[in-house]
Amino acid sequence: MEKVIIIRYGEIFLKGKNKKYFENLLEKNIANAIKKYDCRIEKSRTRHFVEGFREQDLDTILDTLTKVFGIHSMSVAYKMPTDITKVASLIINDLPDADTFRVTVKRADKTIPLTSTEIACEIGGDILKLNSNMTVDLHSPELVINVDIRENKISYIYFNTIKGLDGMPVGSAGKGMLLISGGIDSPVAGYRMAKRGMQICGIHFHSYPFTSHLAKQKVVDLSTIISEYCGDFNLFVMPFTKIQQSIHDFCREDFMITVMRMIMMEISETLAKRKNCGALLTGESLGQVASQTLESMTVSNSRIKDLPVLRPLIDMDKTEIIEISQKIKTFETSILPYEDCCTVFLPKNPVIKPKLATAVSEYNKIPNLADMIDECLNNIEIIKITNAKQDVII
Ligand code: ATP
Ligand code: MG
Repeated sequence: MEKVIIIRYGEIFLKGKNKKYFENLLEKNIANAIKKYDCRIEKSRTRHFVEGFREQDLDTILDTLTKVFGIHSMSVAYKMPTDITKVASLIINDLPDADTFRVTVKRADKTIPLTSTEIACEIGGDILKLNSNMTVDLHSPELVINVDIRENKISYIYFNTIKGLDGMPVGSAGKGMLLISGGIDSPVAGYRMAKRGMQICGIHFHSYPFTSHLAKQKVVDLSTIISEYCGDFNLFVMPFTKIQQSIHDFCREDFMITVMRMIMMEISETLAKRKNCGALLTGESLGQVASQTLESMTVSNSRIKDLPVLRPLIDMDKTEIIEISQKIKTFETSILPYEDCCTVFLPKNPVIKPKLATAVSEYNKIPNLADMIDECLNNIEIIKITNAKQDVII
């Protein structure tokens, strides 16, 4: 009997006229995620099916699909031509171990003259005849045998449902430029925006040799982990050393971080527009550090002309952010000790409530800043981040 994976949608269901667009995008993302496996994707009115895979690939395909946004749930099902009299004999040897069971029938095929309950009784009775050790328990059975009878004379039988991530298909909500550091927060921010359907690309400010190659590698590693959810993307590594050195040389110590963040936002917006991004994304959370107070964020926003800055973690506690980073497996990499460019020149007492006028006057103290920004934008290292897992060849 053929095994298939049934894929059910999440919020796409709520979409009206353009539901087709979302379904097609989800199908494209599913196909892309599992392209290295020998299998095909079929579509019915409200579901997708993965079919024709090798049994040994099933677990890894399921694992991959649990990272695709837009999927509400999945079930591994036996697919068979609809024939109620044959269901019990076909599945009897494949039933999971259980003492008690219930049959639940969904009947989309209205040409069958029996009700769902009558069909369930028939199939349940046949199972009892074939396995006298099992008994029926309608209220809290150990095993639920789901029989889904479709209109096209095909039935699906399954015993379990695996939860998906929900969210919207990546690519359905525009593109955002994620300011990604090596910390805990920004990879989580990228994950959360991709969950709402946003395609991301990454920008990282690197201050070699103040920050090491290992610090950059850490950002590449974090990007690779989140690309399992967000899809492949470009990471733009910005040479920031010269600007950072100038901030250190010319600005008041307590305003160093404030000015640095103003410049980071300014450069990020310029690059974002060049790459057709409609928003900047950061991992900021209100009040987490001095640079994330309302006043500090107002100042760093002041250098941005057009794009919105989305801060998906703004209302979250660090513990909540850590919980997500553990779930998506970025945490272990994020806590590696390599320093970020934000930490190398960390002032002892950074200003917590910077005044915009003072910040602007500190910003204006940096000589040739416009040229240095141009130089930074003209010397970007582009790293292609891909989640393509390599096959292990034995
Ligand atoms: P994270 O854990 O993401 O590093 P954080 O708590 O360390 O955040 P900050 O260092 O103040 O906070 O950074 C705030 C946000 O600024 C980050 O979430 C990220 O979006 C951005 N950011 C910080 N450093 C960099 C960098 N070197 N390159 C790009 N973006 C950065
Ligand atoms: Mg940081």
